[in-house]
Amino acid sequence: MKKIPRHILTASLLTLFVIAMVVYLGLNFRSMKEEEPIYPGPGVTSREMLSKYCPSLEGTSGDTEIYILDSGVPGASMLVLGGTHPNEPSGFISAISLIETLKPSAGVFYVIPRANNSAFTCNDPQEGSPQRFTIETAGGSRWFRFGSRATNPIDQWPDSEVYVHASSGQTLSGSEIRNLNRAYPGREDGTLTEKVAYGITQFILKHDVTITVDLHEASPEYTTVNAIVAHENAMDLATLSLWELEDVMKISVEASPKKLHGLTHRELGDFTSTLALLMETANASQGRLHGTVTPEMIVTGQDKFYVRAGRYGALTVDYPESGIGMSERCARHLTALFEFCRAYDGPAGTIDPGDVPGYKDILTNGIGAYLASPK
Ligand SMILES: [Zn+2]
Repeated sequence: MKKIPRHILTASLLTLFVIAMVVYLGLNFRSMKEEEPIYPGPGVTSREMLSKYCPSLEGTSGDTEIYILDSGVPGASMLVLGGTHPNEPSGFISAISLIETLKPSAGVFYVIPRANNSAFTCNDPQEGSPQRFTIETAGGSRWFRFGSRATNPIDQWPDSEVYVHASSGQTLSGSEIRNLNRAYPGREDGTLTEKVAYGITQFILKHDVTITVDLHEASPEYTTVNAIVAHENAMDLATLSLWELEDVMKISVEASPKKLHGLTHRELGDFTSTLALLMETANASQGRLHGTVTPEMIVTGQDKFYVRAGRYGALTVDYPESGIGMSERCARHLTALFEFCRAYDGPAGTIDPGDVPGYKDILTNGIGAYLASPK
């Protein structure tokens, strides 16, 4: 049999390798578009898409679901934003927990779990982040997407060198143009990120939302962490809630800086009558000092480098060897949300989340106990 020349054999093997890589990366890329299932619970009365409030979002990856939990008893309303930054998963998981388990007894809850839907379809470059993580529930484990801080560049590109915030003229570095929490109040004819912000602002105006809470996480070395950031109109509500929250957790209230534009706690408070609040918990996977980010580390928060950094006094939170896990981070978010409801005493009436777990319940049982089992 004729022998295949060496250079043809090498070229063929290389071609096969390239084809295999293209197929592998293509499948990998496509898998980031897959959304984890959310199982609406007994409190969900209807669903809408954000494009109803910004029609140019329809058919784009910026369009996202709004879950409505109407108690049927007139009262105040609360909008909860999860997934403004999809690399800060406790906000997203807390929002899903509300959709799946909350049954309010007065007022209305609106929940947008994937506020920046596009940012769930990519990871931040050079971070080596996993694409998903799992949480154990009573009926088995469920997977959830770990995304990026910013809109997928496939959906919005290129970034300008300098990002000029439309309504204030504030300038920021170019990459911030894809950061939803620098895009408020948004523009109907702006970038995809500005359209998402515009849709959310219009939703608040249309429904006259009483309280809006944007759920985030921050690096454990960041100054604003384990904190509530409040627009001046929401400061009374935040400080009233703090009285009760301090009994179960270390937490502080910070005033929304008046000259930092594009953020929910600034622009939603300025452009609408909602009481705008933002929450931050400590997320090691997002910080600059962590080791390898694994799916387990996202959930447990265990990271020896953060423990060491804490011993050197480099952090703004206590960082135990047991980590700051997803259950604790979600317990903080959920307990604060429920406390805001209890503390609200304004003209819109009562908002009552109904029978909800306490901070210690969530810590003891784990956040998986407050998520639906996979179906
Ligand atoms: Zn954030």
